[in-house]
Amino acid sequence: MDAALPIEPWCISEKELDLEALGQTESLFALANGHLGLRGNLDEGEPFNRPGTYLNSFYESRPLPHAEPAYGNPESGQTIINVTNGKLIRLLVDDEPFDIRYGRLNKHERHLDLRSGTLSREVDWTSPAGQSAIVRSTRMVSFTQRAVAAICYEVEAVEKATRVVIQSELVANEPMPPFRKDPRVSAALESPLVAEYQSEWETGAALVHMTKASKLRLAAAMDHLVEGPESVAVEMSAQQDIARTTFTCQLGPGEKLRITKYLAYGWSGHRSRAALFDQVIAALNAARYTGWDELVAEQGLYLDRFWAGADIEIDGDVELQQAVRFGLFHVLQAGARAEERPIAAKGLTGTGYEGHAFWDTEIFVLPVFNHTLPKAAADVLRWRHSTLDAARDRAKALGLKGASFPWRTIGGQECSGYWPAGTAAFHINADIAYAVTEYIHCTGDEQFDRDVGVELLVETARLWYSLGHFDREGKFRIDGVTGPDEYDALSDNNVYTNLMARHNLRAAAEAVERHPDIAGHLNVHEHELASWSSAAASVYIPFDDRLRVHPQCEGYTLRQSWDFAHTDPESYPLLLNYPYFDLYRKQVIKQADLVLAMHLQSRAFSEEQKARNFIYYERITVRDSSLSAATQAVVAAELGHLDLAYDYLGETALVDLKDVHRNAKDGVHIASMAGAWSALVSGFGGMRTHGPDLYFSPRLPAFLNRISFNLRHHDRRLSVVILPNYATYKLQSGEPLTLRHHGETFELTTDKAITYDIPQTKARTYPVQPVGREPRRRHTTLNRS
Ligand code: BGC
Repeated sequence: MDAALPIEPWCISEKELDLEALGQTESLFALANGHLGLRGNLDEGEPFNRPGTYLNSFYESRPLPHAEPAYGNPESGQTIINVTNGKLIRLLVDDEPFDIRYGRLNKHERHLDLRSGTLSREVDWTSPAGQSAIVRSTRMVSFTQRAVAAICYEVEAVEKATRVVIQSELVANEPMPPFRKDPRVSAALESPLVAEYQSEWETGAALVHMTKASKLRLAAAMDHLVEGPESVAVEMSAQQDIARTTFTCQLGPGEKLRITKYLAYGWSGHRSRAALFDQVIAALNAARYTGWDELVAEQGLYLDRFWAGADIEIDGDVELQQAVRFGLFHVLQAGARAEERPIAAKGLTGTGYEGHAFWDTEIFVLPVFNHTLPKAAADVLRWRHSTLDAARDRAKALGLKGASFPWRTIGGQECSGYWPAGTAAFHINADIAYAVTEYIHCTGDEQFDRDVGVELLVETARLWYSLGHFDREGKFRIDGVTGPDEYDALSDNNVYTNLMARHNLRAAAEAVERHPDIAGHLNVHEHELASWSSAAASVYIPFDDRLRVHPQCEGYTLRQSWDFAHTDPESYPLLLNYPYFDLYRKQVIKQADLVLAMHLQSRAFSEEQKARNFIYYERITVRDSSLSAATQAVVAAELGHLDLAYDYLGETALVDLKDVHRNAKDGVHIASMAGAWSALVSGFGGMRTHGPDLYFSPRLPAFLNRISFNLRHHDRRLSVVILPNYATYKLQSGEPLTLRHHGETFELTTDKAITYDIPQTKARTYPVQPVGREPRRRHTTLNRS
């Protein structure tokens, strides 16, 4: 059961506490800034589905068990851990602990405000002894002060005089529900923090810990401001794994005790205990100096600026409007202040996928940042660059040249224990290269190009050249790799992979020509450059002449079809109910693969090929991954299947609010929600980047009245408004810009907006999905008989 959350344009509200949906709401209500993440746990800590406080890239190493050892298997994994919990504020009302499982809950509301960036809660509770109290709390993780979170916690006595005790805590090594059944793994992750140092003062404390195996050091500190009756007793204690500030007072009816709790976090693999301790104390001082009101004001201002450049308005579907904003908010939370650290598949909202980052970042998340917060995109790619040595080592271990980036990781080392869908998914390297070129095209950031762009492109091009080979006919083949669709592994000439590798090889050659000095430092010689160009020119792209479609990989269309008619609807996702051996040899697709190639490498396909390919792959795509619907939306929209695109947009945008994959409790799906942006901007907006040029082919689905969005492009701000019959482009600021509307080139200046008619869509055969796997129809407006 997903949580019942009313629809509001700028808020996610829960009007009644739903314990069944606690795991989901802990994820939905998580607050983060890309560096620090607080799961939406209740202030008093219990009940919980999973307590969570995370610091980007703060992980523990653990054994990576393999059933059968083999050369090249990574032996050690990395798992994000729950760090010192500073959210905890326990309350005693007279002599009863405030716990919503006991007594009477008269009211329990939570609101996540997407404009103020705060989570607020209001509880009216009567203890089993009949004493009533109102608890109000507001929590934030600051976008402007990266190390800082703050909580304003208020308790009010209702009718009778009440003695209240508030215990505000920092707790390390909280007991956790088990991660996995494997005892070796669980043991490594149980109490992963070793206490190094504690310090306390009248109103606060700090704890310093180090992980047992990864040897990363963490410091967490808290301080408080208390407002209430004159005689509030304050006591402080700090031990190895727990620090506690206790506030005790007597409240008369209607009287309030308010605690402002400031939190500061820091971690390092290098800094000394003293330096890290000082760092968090300084951050705490800054937060206290700023004060609660100003922290909240700064947060609001930061978000005002973000929304001014990133908001998408949707007229005609309030549910979608809310979901799209919620998604953008979580994308922002995942990356805003990551600052040369990864963006994990779940951001900092849960432990799903062990906190690992995948290709999700480069292919789904960075397009959003390129056009809304480009610095965040650059930061992630700078992080990739910082892991180049690990990627070079991995390439060497695999007998390859250049750099082989990990399929899943936190610190840069390969953490995938299942190589057919891990190491063999070499496309991640081309995905990174693609993200590099897209970022440069969208921003023109030359410094980035010089600092990290060229090297990333060169090292990944080297990988492709050593991974592929020329066959007897002179075709450059890339055999035995896994493309985006994880129901097909170790196949030859996956079209997506080959097209993206071609892009990578060409982009590297161009980068070398742009920056011969850097190429010289990287030892790129003429013959190497020539070899990339000749491989790119000869990349083999298989085509089935009989069916006139592209096979996902060589021979794909000859495989036996999956028996969808006899597949129980309850057995999806198939990977949980069928062996990979069977999935791998049949035509059944987990997630968009060839269809993604048609989006990202749009020009490699004719319009007719796109239309035929789309119909072919729709029939066999089951969307067992949340990384599919967004891409299907984009290509469906391009082909004029606007209602279908709209259905897919709904699925990708509502992935967590509706708990579509029934795993929102593990953390929100950042890439899927970022994909909602793509479904709108690249789908209904028809935006494609061709080098530094932007093309649009806007079209609205019948049910919507209007979509408008803002974009950044090369220091310019641009807005696009799409109505049923025409679209208007306006340059808000910056130098004149040449754009295209449905193939027509025009120049846009800040002087005047330009409006164009929208041409009719072509009538096409309506695509069919596997039985039972059709997207939920949002609003049927077409007769699809
Ligand atoms: C998908 C991958 C994705 C991963 C993390 C998997 O289910 O198949 O493509 O990278 O989830 O989101």
